[in-house]
Amino acid sequence: MAEEQKVKKEALEIIGQFQNLPRLVVFDLDYTLWPFYCEFGDEDENPYLYPQAKGILLALKEKEIDLAIASRSPTPEIAKPYLDKLGIRSMFVAEEIFSSWTHKTEHFQRIHRKTGIPFSSMLFFDDENRNIESVSKMGATSIYVSNGVNLNALRQGLSEFSRKSESSTSGSKRK
Ligand SMILES: [Mg+2]
Repeated sequence: MAEEQKVKKEALEIIGQFQNLPRLVVFDLDYTLWPFYCEFGDEDENPYLYPQAKGILLALKEKEIDLAIASRSPTPEIAKPYLDKLGIRSMFVAEEIFSSWTHKTEHFQRIHRKTGIPFSSMLFFDDENRNIESVSKMGATSIYVSNGVNLNALRQGLSEFSRKSESSTSGSKRK
């Protein structure tokens, strides 16, 4: 718990360094929020997150940034109880968990329809390059994570988001 609060505080400091913030941050599940494929788990197990994930979710929430899930896991019946057990399910405004041949374009269309938030105001974290490629083509800032979501990935994501939104709104920059 103490560690979680420490990460949250650091995440809040990182978020505070940026003026152009995403309105929605979207996370993959397997190997992004948690370090396993939940399709190989079962409901009796106790799931756990990457060590810095919870603190980051709490910080984004505190800054009133919406959170969503985009997962191609074929087992939403395992993933959803895991989110419940972790006590984080209610933090997400959209929860798209279904297997699909598209590389999450369908997941993002649904998230956009549900939230009304444009892709250009979204930041996305995932551990698979093909998803990163297809979602960034849709206009969302997409960040590849090799070791789960952590403070470095958050910093990188926010700075890429901020750079992108400055170049697309040049002339109306706030200093
Ligand atoms: Mg994954």
